[in-house]
Amino acid sequence: MTAAQNKMSSFWMPFTPNRDFHDDPRMIVGADGMYYTSADGRQIMDATAGLWCVNAGHNDPLIVEAVQKQVATLDYAPHFNFGTPQSFELASKLASMFPDPLNHVFFTGSGSESVDTALKIALHYHRMRGDGARTRLIGRERGYHGVGFGGISVGGIVNNRKHFGGLLTGVDHLPHTHNLEKNAFTKGCPEHGAELAEDLVRIAELHDPSTIAAVIVEPMAGSTGVLMPPVGYLKRLREICDQYGILLIFDEVITAYGRLGKASAAEYFGVTPDLITTAKGLTNGVVPMGAVIIDEKIYNSAMDNTGTPIELFHGYTYSGHPLATAAALATLKSYEDNDMFARATAMAPKWEDGVHSLKGLPHVKDIRNLGLVGAIELESRAGAVGARGMEAMKAAWAEGVMIRVTGDIIALSPPLIISEEEIQTLFGKLAGVLKNIA
Ligand code: PMP
Repeated sequence: MTAAQNKMSSFWMPFTPNRDFHDDPRMIVGADGMYYTSADGRQIMDATAGLWCVNAGHNDPLIVEAVQKQVATLDYAPHFNFGTPQSFELASKLASMFPDPLNHVFFTGSGSESVDTALKIALHYHRMRGDGARTRLIGRERGYHGVGFGGISVGGIVNNRKHFGGLLTGVDHLPHTHNLEKNAFTKGCPEHGAELAEDLVRIAELHDPSTIAAVIVEPMAGSTGVLMPPVGYLKRLREICDQYGILLIFDEVITAYGRLGKASAAEYFGVTPDLITTAKGLTNGVVPMGAVIIDEKIYNSAMDNTGTPIELFHGYTYSGHPLATAAALATLKSYEDNDMFARATAMAPKWEDGVHSLKGLPHVKDIRNLGLVGAIELESRAGAVGARGMEAMKAAWAEGVMIRVTGDIIALSPPLIISEEEIQTLFGKLAGVLKNIA
């Protein structure tokens, strides 16, 4: 292999058609605020906050400085039987940000780890209560819960599941809620579809409700093409879970920390689950970190019942990592100091107008929005699902905009600092892209 070939192919890229990228690499060398700098020296507007994580914008000085200071003071410390003051401070800060009684926090290194942690804690909880027959987990079609074996088992993306063997047993899936016939071009949450929550009754009765441990859903699905919950759907899931003693987990890896203008989607929708998985916006993407936010009764079950000094046989080398903790504390301060969640709420109507201004352009078959999230669903080319989306992504990059595509759906989730003018520029450029692609 030549050095040049080796340089490209030695990195096996995640979720990327690698050879296609080698032929046409999109390299990033810098970032500031709303923009990336590409290797060819262009300013690229970040319309996706990286991967839904850079909510405060890039290179926020407060976060940069906190991480620099931390690495020079305490680079790493274990959290098995030891601790740092900052990780306790961060946990109590998070406990105050999420709805009561979600008052306890378990730190992880990513969204996938948060999901597997939450699923394990749910199973552990039932065992601690002497209800160990509850081992089944219910996910949803078109759900994305990261790439751990737990996450892909409860997840509903066929390609992420089908190549990896038998997965977890005892898993079932609710139907997804995407319904273009009834809900196309809805602004905010769709009117139709709350009745799909009733499938949980069917699934519970099918398996015997006393065997079901937990239901996990994204309150707003992101990675599977941005699917907003139908009005009333989440509330109904909560009621059914309560009726059957099933724990409800919200996977908020993308919806927490301001994406919908609140600290959590749970707060936004007024529905409180038993566990919330988070990551991404927790540290503004600067250092990898996740956190599972946990209900009082679940925490107490582990503390009260074991009689041993170790309550939960679970944890990561990087749980509570000092650099991540420093990044998170500074990130939360930046959100607060700049009133960023309120800012996102104030900007959401302008964002909604912007994204829906693309209605009527070639290939556009649906547009969706909520908070500072948008989706443009394109008609797929015959026999080539995803080709048009990929073409749009490349054309947008050429126009100086980073977008994310899932199949033929463009997903948009800018940093919360986006201005009205930048919204106009973004949708002006995207309109040009849509007019020009085949
Ligand atoms: N859950 C959800 C809802 C996500 O959107 C993601 C990432 N997009 C994950 C889990 C996985 O997070 P990570 O890539 O950090 O493992």
